[in-house]
Amino acid sequence: MNIPFLDLKKQYLEIKNEVDAAIFKVLDDQQFIQGKHCCEFENKFNEIQGLSYGVGCSNGTSAIYVALKCLDVKPGDEVITVNNTFFATVEAIVECGATPVLVDCDPITYQIDTEKLRNAITSKTKVIIPVHLYGNPADMISIMDIASKHSIKVVEDCAQAHLATIGGRGVGSFGDFSTFSFYPGKNLGAYGDAGFIGSNSEELINKAKMYINHGRMDKYEHQFCAGNFRMDGIQASVLNVKLKYITKWTARRREIAKQYDMAFDGLHLGNIKTYENSLCSYHLYVIRSNKREKLQQILKEKNIATGIHYPVAMSEQPAMNNYSFSGLTTSESYSKELVSLPMCPYLSNEQIDYVSSSVINAIDLL
Ligand SMILES: *Cc1c(COP(=O)(O)O)cnc(C)c1O
Repeated sequence: MNIPFLDLKKQYLEIKNEVDAAIFKVLDDQQFIQGKHCCEFENKFNEIQGLSYGVGCSNGTSAIYVALKCLDVKPGDEVITVNNTFFATVEAIVECGATPVLVDCDPITYQIDTEKLRNAITSKTKVIIPVHLYGNPADMISIMDIASKHSIKVVEDCAQAHLATIGGRGVGSFGDFSTFSFYPGKNLGAYGDAGFIGSNSEELINKAKMYINHGRMDKYEHQFCAGNFRMDGIQASVLNVKLKYITKWTARRREIAKQYDMAFDGLHLGNIKTYENSLCSYHLYVIRSNKREKLQQILKEKNIATGIHYPVAMSEQPAMNNYSFSGLTTSESYSKELVSLPMCPYLSNEQIDYVSSSVINAIDLL
């Protein structure tokens, strides 16, 4: 057996007729930037994710940056996020000129530790960015409670968490803004770069709409300087096709995760737990080993592809050398042990069985 980490080609072949037709439709009606396909996508994505308002944008990184700019994040402000995330989250903070403040993760859920978050707040804290890492919802109830007590804004980084829910409510509908990525490998992936900004505030989303489009009021009048972070029509048309399948694909990811969970029950491999009432979207299925390299090598010999998300914590990134951080022991030590197992809706039960038994056998050999 040969088990890819993620099989996007197989997915494409299943929806090829629809996707090809959708792309040719954009060529035919010449709606290349924003326009009707983007509008259609925005309405449908708001609905499926439970967002009041939303706007497509260029990618998940610009989505975070634009959200922070619209909340007036500037030099002198502190923005808190979690130490175990993809680099884009802290990058957006730094690019706004603000100071990144990193908080450790909870050892069981891998999401921002809310007690440590409480202790990290100062008079300069402007925004908190919880990241629903691996698609596992952060404890938004506690986070919103902490934020509102201190009048701090919240931007949810939902790049890995399409269709993840807390108490039946979509992630991204809790904070002031939410941001999504449709990078091809994400649970809902475009065929190029694309992203999304959601909000419950009409005022904030209107600002974001202007921000992604040169601070425009109309074609020739600009209220402020911003930039170009617009979504393109071809990406929206691909996403419109994929939206028909995302519920089914997400359900399949949850089945696969359950199959792994059952196989690993009692083995203490560190597979993530969710908070009560929340449903993970399983962008990744992660375990830990203190002999990671050897485990990956054994799995590779069995033709099982694995990944690491992420091998370097934000606090240990060369780009963060100018800042000082402390109290990040869980996330820093985990970064040296994490292994992501194959996770994709197109893997069969037999393939998942093969991966789980190979992992269990390998652990015996380590
Ligand atoms: C992928 C990702 C991003 C960035 O999204 P892009 O579309 O690649 O710019 C931001 N945050 C997290 C947690 C991500 O996984």
